[in-house]
Amino acid sequence: MTLRFEDLNKHLNSLEIGQEMFQLIKELYPICRSMTGNGIRDTLHLIQRHVSLDIHEVPSGTNVFDWTVPKEWNIRDAYIKDEKGEKIVDFKKSNLHVVSYSVPVNKKMSLTELKQHIFTLPDHPDWIPYRTAYYEESWGFCLAHKQLLELTDGEYEVYIDSSLNNGHLTYGEYYIRGDEMDEVLISCHTCHPSLCNDNLSGIALTTFLAKYLSHLSLRYSYRFLFIPATIGSITWLCLNEPLVSRIKHGLVVACVGDSGNITYKKSRQGSAEIDGAISHVLQHSQSSYSIIDFYPYGYDDRQYCSPAFNLPIGCLMRTQHGHFPEYHTSEDNLEFVKIPCLADSFTKCLSALYIIENNKRYINLNPKCEPQLGKRGLYHSMGIPRQDMDAQIALLWVLNLSDGKHNLLDIAEKSGLSFYPIQKATDSLLRCNLLKEA
Ligand code: ZN
Repeated sequence: MTLRFEDLNKHLNSLEIGQEMFQLIKELYPICRSMTGNGIRDTLHLIQRHVSLDIHEVPSGTNVFDWTVPKEWNIRDAYIKDEKGEKIVDFKKSNLHVVSYSVPVNKKMSLTELKQHIFTLPDHPDWIPYRTAYYEESWGFCLAHKQLLELTDGEYEVYIDSSLNNGHLTYGEYYIRGDEMDEVLISCHTCHPSLCNDNLSGIALTTFLAKYLSHLSLRYSYRFLFIPATIGSITWLCLNEPLVSRIKHGLVVACVGDSGNITYKKSRQGSAEIDGAISHVLQHSQSSYSIIDFYPYGYDDRQYCSPAFNLPIGCLMRTQHGHFPEYHTSEDNLEFVKIPCLADSFTKCLSALYIIENNKRYINLNPKCEPQLGKRGLYHSMGIPRQDMDAQIALLWVLNLSDGKHNLLDIAEKSGLSFYPIQKATDSLLRCNLLKEA
């Protein structure tokens, strides 16, 4: 099967895909993920039910550019008990309660001492924050501010059964071989615990995109990375440097399930083909959106777009990270992500890849004045339905700009038409031998 819009419309039930994405999010939600450890392995094993990704293990201590692969963190249990021996905070009820990478603790302490290790959100007294202590050996608990205010003086038993040992950094990789060795890279971060939009939504979109594309015949090869943020992309880039030059287009996918509008953060290059393709899809969609320039913080695009690599990789989100109050809190839960929004993000992503797949340059084989379209069955008199009118005008645009310099997306942009009629016109002209691929 070739990847075509017709096929997308005919065979793609986007709402069904949205439901499947949500189902995967629901399965992954309870798992305590972190930068390393069994949570990531369990996550990748669940994804393997959909796509047969490879799981890579990189030993702690491996030097990757200016960084070192950290020790592996695992946690089995954690709680705070009050003087009566009652568990007032329980990791088993929410894995957000423990600061990620907390070292083991088993001691009794006063409320004053305990408070130095407690994080809350006074502005949202019912919510539990998400905190990490990746590169410092410390420990902490996160709880609702309301609960902190209710704690009375006394002795508390604090217990964290975790381990921080030499082990591995774990990541998942799925590769689809296309006709060309040139690649499209799709990357998502897998290191957050029970948080849905950031980034189980991105994991679900990447998984189902991989699953969907694996059934199609493709021009480009595709590589899907399921990696812990920052150290994961640094590690992958360092260990796979010879492959990097193959990457011609790419997307980092995060926060794609909330009900906000799509935000697209452009690649550092700013006018890469992927930037044009996503902009085009958004311009011709019926919904509001925003497109923002690259800036050097955020997700793994900051590594892919570091100056030595400067890859044509943008970041697809709905509401930007940090711009929604639920960000990095217990409210980024299963209610916060919406099936139609997951489906919409999926469809827009796929539409942009459709453009990338089909965006070629052609040469007009009859460039001396316009060819006579009527004798080839391509001319319709005026006064025809709008859609046919667009098709007619698309033929003229493709003929005029198929000079080997403009690709189909350039032609679509110049004509103000969407990519699809331009591509359809190209197909008709190819069938009549009026065009050839440049
Ligand atoms: Zn995050």
